[in-house]
Amino acid sequence: LPEPGVAALGAADVTGLLPRPGAKSDKYRRGVVGVVAGSDRFTGAAVLAVGGAVRAGAGLVRFASAAEPVRQVRARWPEAVTKIVTPEEGVRETGRVQAWVVGPGMGTGDEAFALARSVLDSDVPVLVDADGLTLCARDRSLLRRAAPTLITPHAGELGRLLGVSVAEVEARRLRHARRAADELGVTVLLKGSTTLVAQAGMPVRVNTTGTPWLATGGTGDVLAGIAGAYLAAGLSCYDAASCAAYMHGLAARVAAGGPEGGEAPIAALDVALGLPEAIRR
Ligand code: AMP
Ligand code: MG
Repeated sequence: LPEPGVAALGAADVTGLLPRPGAKSDKYRRGVVGVVAGSDRFTGAAVLAVGGAVRAGAGLVRFASAAEPVRQVRARWPEAVTKIVTPEEGVRETGRVQAWVVGPGMGTGDEAFALARSVLDSDVPVLVDADGLTLCARDRSLLRRAAPTLITPHAGELGRLLGVSVAEVEARRLRHARRAADELGVTVLLKGSTTLVAQAGMPVRVNTTGTPWLATGGTGDVLAGIAGAYLAAGLSCYDAASCAAYMHGLAARVAAGGPEGGEAPIAALDVALGLPEAIRR
């Protein structure tokens, strides 16, 4: 910065975009976000993604997955409406979802592939993260869909999607974020010490609210849930990604502590729990 086609993301931009309920709002109008995450072997990512969506202010979170992650999510987030689904039936019968989040901890085998495809077959916006991105790297046609798609890779996941090394992505992050947006026809939120949001025809937004304390397991899963809640509230992929990156970074700062009091390590769940204070600020 400054560079042509690049825009720093500021507090004023985000404040104007953040969804807030109107006097006549009901939970459906605030947005129903569907989350497909976790697997019988990995349940934590599911709990964290649902937590991000609940704490970002979704009207309702619907969670669909295997039996064990459903059990864990029910225990940790009683607000969520859960459903055990098989890869064969998929999510086609899950009602009134306005945007989906798919991928964290879901695994990368054939069953996960079938489940991810049922989500991507839907005609509402979909956010793809983590294992969902590995599945899309296996078959990029999964990303060819009529409704808007937001992907939230770190450099490794983006490299896999584009068929280039992590080092290559890290060396030219801006170029690769733009290239992925153009070639795949999606909105790209590229994670790292700074976060880029790229979409064809739009300036690349740069978010710097984060903190190195975010470099810990599970924080990306929380981010996916936050962005999913904003998509379900009706924000475009570009705006949902921008607001989510901004608030996620700020929530992490809230959780890690201020300059006077000193800072301390945070866990991913602390980021979700820091969201209300970050939004108030
Ligand atoms: P993931 O790679 O999916 O685990 O997500 C990690 C999250 O932490 C992303 O939101 C990154 O942008 C953020 N993050 C990781 N390292 C840093 C860092 N050094 N400074 C700021 N944010 C970071
Ligand atoms: Mg991740």
